[in-house]
Amino acid sequence: KERGKNTFQFYTTDMNASALERLRLEYALHRALAQNEELEVWYQPKVALADGSIVGAEALVRWTHPELGPIAPDRFIAIAEESSLIGMLGEWVLATACSALRSWRERGLLMGRMAVNISGRQLKLGGIVETICRILDDAGVPHGSLELEVTESVAMEEGSGMIDVLHRLKEQGIYLSIDDFGTGYSSLAYLKRLPVSGLKIDRSFIMDLHRDSDDAAITAAIVSIAQSLGLDLVAEGVERVEQRDFLLGKGCTMAQGYFFSPPLPRAEFEALLVEQAGR
Ligand code: C2E
Ligand code: CA
Ligand code: CA
Ligand code: CA
Repeated sequence: KERGKNTFQFYTTDMNASALERLRLEYALHRALAQNEELEVWYQPKVALADGSIVGAEALVRWTHPELGPIAPDRFIAIAEESSLIGMLGEWVLATACSALRSWRERGLLMGRMAVNISGRQLKLGGIVETICRILDDAGVPHGSLELEVTESVAMEEGSGMIDVLHRLKEQGIYLSIDDFGTGYSSLAYLKRLPVSGLKIDRSFIMDLHRDSDDAAITAAIVSIAQSLGLDLVAEGVERVEQRDFLLGKGCTMAQGYFFSPPLPRAEFEALLVEQAGR
């Protein structure tokens, strides 16, 4: 009995510690957003596989906590999603990315669409379509220059009104793509009904492509699904020349990954655009 009690106490203390840690991060994130400090948006080029030229960018949020240092987006986005911060964070990322895009366009630095990740919880917030359009209009960015990346599991949620939100975004001229494709359990019939224009092959298939024949077969199958449904396709996480060559050979035309460039701070991404414009 005595021991059982201690075990129980240990367990609750442990839980409290992690709940406390979350609460601390949530508070710190709120402060960072309110004071417009510590957060940044970095940009990773999306490139044409054939020649590495930049055809777009994905905006990725970065947070450096003053004491804890850099915190992984997967971690603080989960915290933001479980609190009410996701709306504020998502709007901040979108507005920041749009203002960068606007300034590049004004300087004649053309780079295709700006892709921004949008979480499931954020898409379910009331008035989300109007909020997104307002941010684009305020920034002076045409709706067609924005791409929203929605994960496969979120896009496939049935009976949640998700498909309706996606349709309304598309009606507004916004380009939609499915992120982490291949990791969910999409039926192809359902995929065909979604108002999306592109797919991103999940990095987990690309990672071992050059030495795992299952991953190679899955990737080749996804390329042909995209081709037969008339969807654009981007391969994520390309790190090696063998992966690029395999993808090119299968007819995939666009990619992202460390082989081409990691995500970069705004000024460094801009320097790449300037270099490309001068070529
Ligand atoms: P994601 O949307 O799948 O983003 C791709 C992730 O892969 C990014 O991690 C990127 O830095 C990383 N990556 C890119 N190329 C390579 C490569 O060649 N090799 C490897 N190993 N990794 C590569 P990051 O920035 O840590 O973001 C993680 C996830 O956090 C994202 O996955 C996305 O789901 C989420 N996220 C990031 N920024 C935002 C945001 O602004 N809003 C929302 N809702 N989610 C975001
Ligand atoms: Ca993404
Ligand atoms: Ca992804
Ligand atoms: Ca991911």
